[in-house]
Amino acid sequence: MRKTATEKGGTYTVDLTKIDGDGAFQCPKCGAIISPEDETEEVYAIVETKVKKDELTELTLKCNQCGSKIRLTGFLSPSEEARHK
Ligand SMILES: [Zn+2]
Repeated sequence: MRKTATEKGGTYTVDLTKIDGDGAFQCPKCGAIISPEDETEEVYAIVETKVKKDELTELTLKCNQCGSKIRLTGFLSPSEEARHK
C-alpha cells in the first residue's frame, strides 16, 4: 500500500488518517492548502466520490493550482473519528 505516492499522470494519494488537525492538507505537488471546509472550488474541485454503505470512502480532487489529481483515502466514520481524538 502506498501512502503519499506519485503515480503516472500526476495523481497523488493522501491518507487522511495521517493528517493532523481539521483535515486540511497541502497539495503534494504545489503545496496549496486544501481544506474540506472550503466549498468555493477556487483551490480544488471534486472529481469523483466513492460511497460505501452511505459513507464516503474515497474522494478524488483536482488541484486548481497545478492540475494534479489527489485521491483521498482513510475517511473515518463520526464514531471512529471521536475515538481517534
Ligand atoms: Zn497543486
